[in-house]
Amino acid sequence: MRGTAEGLSKLGVERVAHCTGRDVDVRELRALVERVVREVLSREGDRGVEVPKRKKTRPGIVLAIVGGKGGTGKTTVAVNLAVSLRGPLRFFDGDVEEPDAYLFLRPIFRETVPVEVPVPQFDLSRCTYCGACAEFCRFNAIAVARENLVFFEGLCRSCGGCAIVCPAGAISPRGKEIGQVWIGETGEVRFFGGRLVPGEQMVSPILWTLAGYRDDEAVNIVDGPPGTRAGMIEAVWGADYCLLVTEPTPLGLHDLVRSAEVLGILGIPYGVVLNKDEIGDGRVEQFCEGNQVPILLRIPYDRDIAALCARGIPFAREDPGWAKKFGELFRAVQEEVS
Ligand code: SF4
Ligand code: SF4
Repeated sequence: MRGTAEGLSKLGVERVAHCTGRDVDVRELRALVERVVREVLSREGDRGVEVPKRKKTRPGIVLAIVGGKGGTGKTTVAVNLAVSLRGPLRFFDGDVEEPDAYLFLRPIFRETVPVEVPVPQFDLSRCTYCGACAEFCRFNAIAVARENLVFFEGLCRSCGGCAIVCPAGAISPRGKEIGQVWIGETGEVRFFGGRLVPGEQMVSPILWTLAGYRDDEAVNIVDGPPGTRAGMIEAVWGADYCLLVTEPTPLGLHDLVRSAEVLGILGIPYGVVLNKDEIGDGRVEQFCEGNQVPILLRIPYDRDIAALCARGIPFAREDPGWAKKFGELFRAVQEEVS
């Protein structure tokens, strides 16, 4: 892969199409591959994390808010930040499996955009039942036995490979809806929410569709999905800065380290928001201090805050003191990337 990226660059190819049609900058791809290689080679002994330094290159900003497991307070931070900033901004709910930011921001939805992926359709009048497609499919989505072909649509990952290997030209793509992007507004906030159809598994195409609505001139707040898997990487891809929301507990520390490692590989600068401050132990703070990871905001474990959250009310809307703190948080982020 490293050689591929370098080769493309030498050939003067600047952008390559992802298998789903998304364009990727070749230099960006090469830098990422080099970081992954360095990371893999360094996986011996104790490692700390390093906060990447990078300045934003557009007038606006893409600020992604991620964390480890669900329930750490990502959405709480994202919505309170959104209601604390003045001027137009775009808010993206990237937790497409369990979207909940709309419960706090209460947008009026005006448009629904279906998100489709290609899946194969089979022309059995052409099929010779040779089994090449079933042999190729590493997700076991196709089974061929004698003169029978069975397609398990739920297992298909839309790679398109079966159509390429079919010698009879019996496979063509058809669209399958796996989710939607809901577009609405609330005050000066344009709201974009992704939803995955229950039972579907491919979150990435919905996150790519959401990313297509980012505005380079505006403030874009991305409320990412939990975890450090593909969904989180898609949500932070192209972000200028990330806020890692965590709790001062052993599990919070574990997830923080994993998220920090991922962002280090992706080369995205980040800082920490410590939620439910004063519970647990001091190891998250020790980790941040030891690795020069800035703690940009602390939110206490507070009954009033919890009560407002439970009622779907951003506490910064009720308390001007918190709106000021979130405004300062945003200015601190801007200083980090300007
Ligand atoms: S590869 Fe084509 S011809 Fe062979 S079994 Fe699959 S659909 Fe039929
Ligand atoms: S498109 Fe890819 S994942 Fe889907 S059935 Fe064909 S080979 Fe398997």
